[in-house]
Amino acid sequence: MNRKRPHTFFIETYGCQMNFSDSEIVASILTEDGFVPATDLFSADIVLLNTCSIREHAEDRIRKRLHYFRSLRKKKPDLMIGLLGCMAERTKLALLEEEQLLDLIAGPDSYRHLPGLLEQAVSGHRAIDTMLSSDETYADINPVRLDSNGVSAFISIMRGCENFCSYCVVPYARGQERSRDAASILKEAKDLFIQGYREITLLGQNVNSYARDDTNSVIRFPGLLEQAARLDPRLRVRFATSHPRDISIELLETIARYPNICKSIHLPVQSGSNPVLDKMNRKYTREEYLEKIRAIRNIIGNCAISTDIITGFCDETEEDHLQTLDLMREAAFDYAFTFKYSERPQTLAAEKYKDNVPPDTKERRLNEIISLQHKLSMQSNQKDLGQVFEVLVEGVSRRSDKHLFGRNSQNKVLVFPDMGQKAGDYAEVRAIRATSATLIGESV
Ligand code: SAM
Ligand code: SF4
Repeated sequence: MNRKRPHTFFIETYGCQMNFSDSEIVASILTEDGFVPATDLFSADIVLLNTCSIREHAEDRIRKRLHYFRSLRKKKPDLMIGLLGCMAERTKLALLEEEQLLDLIAGPDSYRHLPGLLEQAVSGHRAIDTMLSSDETYADINPVRLDSNGVSAFISIMRGCENFCSYCVVPYARGQERSRDAASILKEAKDLFIQGYREITLLGQNVNSYARDDTNSVIRFPGLLEQAARLDPRLRVRFATSHPRDISIELLETIARYPNICKSIHLPVQSGSNPVLDKMNRKYTREEYLEKIRAIRNIIGNCAISTDIITGFCDETEEDHLQTLDLMREAAFDYAFTFKYSERPQTLAAEKYKDNVPPDTKERRLNEIISLQHKLSMQSNQKDLGQVFEVLVEGVSRRSDKHLFGRNSQNKVLVFPDMGQKAGDYAEVRAIRATSATLIGESV
């Protein structure tokens, strides 16, 4: 059966920054083909869910959302529904059959085929493409910035991952690691600056392994970062994510050399215990990780360090857990993203080890980690009191229209009185009060 040809689209994005960046690529591909972004879900002819598979909970959320779309479809029978991203890749045809609701399924390397897939769906055929690629980087696509504050933007510099940490679904959902050419990355950064953006974040699952053979010489991540920083001193440059095994002294020295490379490093540790790190296939020890932390603190003045921690991984003992708490204190993290281990199909851990830490133990350990991090974040913010920071203004504070908010180089949020600055301006702000999440400041 033929369907009405759709005209407007709406994308709902779940998961990490990489997915948000991908949605901007999808928006660009569809706009180039004549589709128009809808302002909300209800005015859209097509809704695309860009999905995440990293934990079971993320997939459960999408399934719940699909139930909602089932009822919406009754009111809007012509609404087309598509699934994109990691969950589309991981579940492939199974989900199409299971849900009987989806018109289209496209994995992360198939977005160029979306217009064709939509045509197929319009003519009543199953539209599915989950082929992974070894070279797709969408380098030539000019992303359409969605939900943008006009100040900061993500630039994807690589895709995929080949680290195969034993718990992680990313290498299966996003395929082989590949780096985008440097010239297209720098052009995108420059164009953003000209449009008024003042902060870019270079994105990859493991940016330290970025390598691209451009103009007969290999450019690696420190070189790329340096070239981005040289575009304009008023453009701040951030990056995520670094793998502790690969972060180098050369990179740290590059960060220290350029005031506009932000003094903030996200360095996921996952666990503080060597047996757990080994089982996770992280390829570094607790001692090596702490050595990297010392190097960061020695080479870069006032650098914030954030991390990711997984608690309750297979066979994790109480002693392992205490080692994680101990490492957190020693590293004195400024911020941490914390997760309970969630077994993912296909991964090495799912095949080899038992998910044998009881749910209530995972919960208790997670709470202990969160409460310690709360104290560490508070201590870190209290150390900032009295200091003056250069803050990139992002907008009006949600709590009071007489206050603005923005971030300092360390990625900490400061709220301060509105002295007429606009989004994209830099303001000098002295921190005068602190919570664990925010610094309250005064203009100087
Ligand atoms: N590539 C980055 C890295 O290596 O740190 C981040 C990848 S992932 C999108 C973000 C975080 O999700 C990981 O650092 C890890 O802490 C967490 N994560 C990944 N797989 C997980 C799992 N199976 N269960 C719980 N948390 C997980
Ligand atoms: Fe997953 Fe490890 Fe790759 Fe990060 S480095 S995406 S945790 S496999």
